Amino acid sequence: MGCGTSKVLPEPPKNIHMDLVKKIEPYTGQKNDKYKHFITDYGNAAVKAGSPLPPHHTNPYPSGHPPSHMEHADPRRNKVAKYRAKFDPRVTVKYDIKALIGRGSFSRVVRVEHKGSKQPYAIKMIETKYREGREVCESELSVLRRVRHTNIIQLIEIFETQDRVYMVMELATGGELFDRIIAKGSFTERDATRVLQMVLEGVKYLHTLGITHRDLKPENLLYYHPGTDSKIMITDFGLASSRKKGDDCLMKTTCGTPEYIAPEILVRKPYTNSVDMWALGVISYILLSGTMPFEDDNRTRLYRQILKGKYSYSGETDC
Ligand code: ADP
Ligand code: MG
Repeated sequence: MGCGTSKVLPEPPKNIHMDLVKKIEPYTGQKNDKYKHFITDYGNAAVKAGSPLPPHHTNPYPSGHPPSHMEHADPRRNKVAKYRAKFDPRVTVKYDIKALIGRGSFSRVVRVEHKGSKQPYAIKMIETKYREGREVCESELSVLRRVRHTNIIQLIEIFETQDRVYMVMELATGGELFDRIIAKGSFTERDATRVLQMVLEGVKYLHTLGITHRDLKPENLLYYHPGTDSKIMITDFGLASSRKKGDDCLMKTTCGTPEYIAPEILVRKPYTNSVDMWALGVISYILLSGTMPFEDDNRTRLYRQILKGKYSYSGETDC
């Protein structure tokens, strides 16, 4: 996610040198923290499945226990109840809502259990009341409806209401690649290669179909199960561009996550699916070094670094 979990939605800016992007989520990381670009909104989000909490969140109470007046108020349970209420009865008659596992600008992702088969799934609920939500939802569905690959999250079924779309998807229980980078600091070359090979398999498949993801980053790469030998699956096609096979028409929309955006997008040149390869380069750097190749809290300076292609590498080379 990079700097402040912000995403650049498809909205072409007027001035390339100023604010190229629309900031849609507040920065929640802490200054001077080595991992500031890896900090998500743990304070407001539910605890993620299979991911460690950052140290300052492990026990918020000095005594080790919550104050007595809070002992019965389990915030996680309240959150589940709150999100359960947002689900259409057609969904809840079929699925039990178990826990909130992810949240974005227009979406909430919950872990559910199919009432009949007891199989676990993920449901991504997208608010489609506003234009941005509708666009993100259309992009995501136009991709998910077309794909079937071992390294891509599979769509199972869809429920639509006037204001919301519910996408039932395969559940990845191993957490985000993001969380494993936090836990490990950095990856050995061997482990990084394994991860990248799996992601590249998925990306190759997408590109063959004329699909460009446009938001590849460690938060959108999920481990299928908690084991160290788990496969990786690509998710979140909200910014994807989906063209017909063989249609090599260029893309123009300015979108992505700032730290991962390719220079050709920043200079607003028509671009190709190679913007995904740029993002994979950024991810490779992060995996090996545990730091971001391009980082600056100031967007203009960050984009300047990217445009210059200016970075230095001082990672370990053990394997
Ligand atoms: P957004 O567009 O809001 O970033 P994502 O599709 O990336 O939405 O989902 C947000 C988060 O929810 C992901 O980063 C991941 O942690 C979790 N998540 C999404 N889909 C799944 C899934 N199928 N299985 C497990 N966790 C998921
Ligand atoms: Mg995402």
